[in-house]
Amino acid sequence: MGSAEDASLDELARRVSAARAATEARGETFYQGASRVHLAAFPPRERWDDWVELSSRAWPAREERHYMLVPTTCFNCESACGLLAYVDRDTGQVRKFEGNPEHPGSRGRNCAKGPATLNQVTDPDRILYPMRRSGPRGGGGWERVSWDEALSALAARIRAALAEGRHNEIMVHIGRPGEDGYTERVLASWGVDGHNSHTNVCSSGGRTGFQFWMGIDRPSPDHAHATVIYLISAHLESGHYFNPHAQRITEARANGAKVIVLDTRLSNTATHADYWLSPQPGSEAAINLAIANHLIQTGAYDREFVRRWWNWAEYLTECHPGTPVTFEAFEEILAGLYADVTFEFAAAEAGLDAGVLAEVAAVVAGAGHRFACHSWRSAAAGNLGGWQVSRTLFLIAALLGAVATEGGTFPNAWNKFVPRPIHVPPHPGVWQELSWPLEYPLAQNEMSFLLPHFLADGRGRLDTYFIRVYNPVWTNPDGLSWMEALCDEDKVGCFVALTPTWSESAWFADYVLPMGHGPERHDTHSYEQYDGQWVGFRQPVLRTARSRLGTPVSDTREVNPGEVWEENEFWIELSWRIDPDGSMGIRQYHESRERPGEKLTVDEYYGWMFSRSVPGLAERAAAEGLSPLDWMRRYGAFEISRGRGAVHEQEVPAAELYDVSVSPLGRVYSAAPPAADPNIVPAGTPPHDEDGRRPAGVIVDGVVRHGFPTPSGRLEFWSSTLAAWGWPEHALPGYIRSHVHPSRLAAGQVVLLSTFRLPTQIHTRSANAKWLDELAHTNPVWIHPADAARFGVGRTGDLVRVETEIGHFVAKAWITEGIRPGVVACSHHMGRWRLDGGPRGAGGMMATVGLSRGDDGWQMERRGSAGPYESADPDSQRIWWTDTGVHQNLTFGVHPDPISGMHCWHEAVRIRPAAPGDQHGDIAVDTRKARQVYREWLALARPAGQVSPDGTRRPHWLMRPLKPSAAAFALPAADRDLP
Ligand code: SF4
Repeated sequence: MGSAEDASLDELARRVSAARAATEARGETFYQGASRVHLAAFPPRERWDDWVELSSRAWPAREERHYMLVPTTCFNCESACGLLAYVDRDTGQVRKFEGNPEHPGSRGRNCAKGPATLNQVTDPDRILYPMRRSGPRGGGGWERVSWDEALSALAARIRAALAEGRHNEIMVHIGRPGEDGYTERVLASWGVDGHNSHTNVCSSGGRTGFQFWMGIDRPSPDHAHATVIYLISAHLESGHYFNPHAQRITEARANGAKVIVLDTRLSNTATHADYWLSPQPGSEAAINLAIANHLIQTGAYDREFVRRWWNWAEYLTECHPGTPVTFEAFEEILAGLYADVTFEFAAAEAGLDAGVLAEVAAVVAGAGHRFACHSWRSAAAGNLGGWQVSRTLFLIAALLGAVATEGGTFPNAWNKFVPRPIHVPPHPGVWQELSWPLEYPLAQNEMSFLLPHFLADGRGRLDTYFIRVYNPVWTNPDGLSWMEALCDEDKVGCFVALTPTWSESAWFADYVLPMGHGPERHDTHSYEQYDGQWVGFRQPVLRTARSRLGTPVSDTREVNPGEVWEENEFWIELSWRIDPDGSMGIRQYHESRERPGEKLTVDEYYGWMFSRSVPGLAERAAAEGLSPLDWMRRYGAFEISRGRGAVHEQEVPAAELYDVSVSPLGRVYSAAPPAADPNIVPAGTPPHDEDGRRPAGVIVDGVVRHGFPTPSGRLEFWSSTLAAWGWPEHALPGYIRSHVHPSRLAAGQVVLLSTFRLPTQIHTRSANAKWLDELAHTNPVWIHPADAARFGVGRTGDLVRVETEIGHFVAKAWITEGIRPGVVACSHHMGRWRLDGGPRGAGGMMATVGLSRGDDGWQMERRGSAGPYESADPDSQRIWWTDTGVHQNLTFGVHPDPISGMHCWHEAVRIRPAAPGDQHGDIAVDTRKARQVYREWLALARPAGQVSPDGTRRPHWLMRPLKPSAAAFALPAADRDLP
């Protein structure tokens, strides 16, 4: 700890804090907008219509440039930071993007990916016109088509599928949603259960552990006010809500907070930690439990919080019949539950020093209520049973009582706000088994990465399959099985890529339809980033600028480059064409309320939402003489509330309770209020029970309180759901040995960490940002010097073969002490490729490859590297790098966790020096072996037909992004009789 750079950053943060305090002491404020931070360079918002800067290129002449500053939202990760587009008033083009000081989450700051949005807008390789395949799928033949032709063809297919009852043949598969519920709403209007996501290759493991505790699947740590910050992630550089969280962690550090980081790899985050633990991958839950055990054994937990808010009474009643249901009896049992998980045990599992764990536990114990914690991908996404990493992490917070406290960890739904849209279609009456198969009744999200295998099993087919912000061939494990499925027209009838850029998957599409980047589309957002609620607005900035200058725009294609569209207008138009006369009941959800019988416009959609569904916005806008929509178009984000506090403690007013009933353990049920719309279920709302009644609270010490949206209304230390649905042995927070536990590794195998991000790259789309590509473009394999010697790898840059269970890849070695011995690591961001003869895609980041199939399976070899090329952007001639890494995900088999459904990313691999003839980036994969791996992991599952306690496919209270009707939850008759 304590590098010069650390010291200067800390010093800077301290100076900012001191300056803030001094300013406030004078009765003055910092930037008067929502960020309330001090950056003198922020343009004051009253000058945003005509902001003047001097041209740097004209220097020393003082040449003025006049800008209109228009806010939007970054789309380069899920943090949804505010951006300000500098629209040149002379040229009408965006000159640059900087931070939006009116945004309460990002507070005027961005990471490198925010300003690089400009590169994506001006990307010379982007797709500008709708394209249709000509010739065989994947053959590389394309022809330009009109939007009209594409829409009519797709609408006809979807209309026919719906008319023929083939609802489950329509699917929209989304990688990064970048919005709150729009696409789900469209699919519900079509009556299909067709939403698929990437979440089970992303964050399902992390979410599951939080969900079983709180009934809410994300934590919202109040980093800024914490005294101890505990991260099983890389939050200071790339983790979830990266920039908004990182700036608050930095503030806390400046105020003396201790940061504890569990990361096997020396991440940038780990370099800023007070305690960096580099555990054996998969042992993180054991470390958490050892710390929890320390709190229990030393009595360093908040007894009153545990007594009031844990479901200990339910646990005693169900698991210890005959034991008096008293808190004292529970404490006695609790004292023994984790007694074996000592520091010595955890240290042995983790390969760490027991004394260091004891020291860290003492720091945690001292945090009291100011313990902020987060776990998202990382270990929770890497390991069999990884969901227990976040469940045991929250155990620590729940013992400390650091739940929804200042400096503690909140359920995210309390720090998030999703406004009600203008139309809300009913829940679809069908169940999509290709996404929600019976084998995984508790899966946190869609079993998306198994889709090629389910199609190969003959479980169904897809007539029309859309992808958006998603590149399944590249993003998922086992990408060549994806490619095989997408090339098979019997399995996928029509494949549509909604995308701004060419990708490994778009190449196999039938239609490639150009969609806008962040500043070219509308969305709303709200994310948990501190104890408050805000709504952000993404908008096409040139549309707003032009409207403000007096030229209204009614179709975003009028201002976007080429014929690039936005999805919202696309979905409205497509829905109208599916149901042109309204007879299918679809059109009504895409019609204007102001002008019945006419199409809904995005202005009306968001105008309605902002006028009626965002508390306080209408009043705030009126104070400035603006409509709520115009206010959002002008400032980009609105803070609804700050200091939400302990929502679970709030009393439920008697006026909100109707026809009340109470369970023996105090869960309070109410009938729905007379005026309630049964289709509106805001995030964090407790589930319905079987009678359609809604849990409305829980009685704690004689008072009906809001509680948590779990079945018990309390924090669920013991999960009745896990117990009832076939997993009683994991109903308590516990430790599951990973599939890469040392005892499961064969001789010569090591663990490959494959889950980490680089700060300046993000999935597929950042490859089309030249500034980011220059910063980071390759992904060497991290190898400890001791291992390098063992493997016979001489130097950094030498080629190694990394052998997985279904193939191998060839990569460069990076010999570093930043990784623990016995573990290697490789970032999943790199290795982008295009087939020889295909479109350039992302010129600075894609290698040209050949792909062939022989008796041993698929072989991919490099035929060309990145390098200078001619384009509309002169910078493309300045590409100085050739190494764009290797696509390791292709060589991974699928590993679905039997409970969370998360793909368990870590791989047991062998490392060898490259064989003669091996080239950097070579891939070999046998998809027959991939099928075998799929079957082995599938056998771990406990299907709903065998374990469902109530004849349903899945507990109704668990979240689903698009929830079917209650009737669709019933198990098919044939599956109810399984043994
Ligand atoms: S953290 Fe960076 S990439 Fe993510 S939204 Fe903010 S500026 Fe964009």
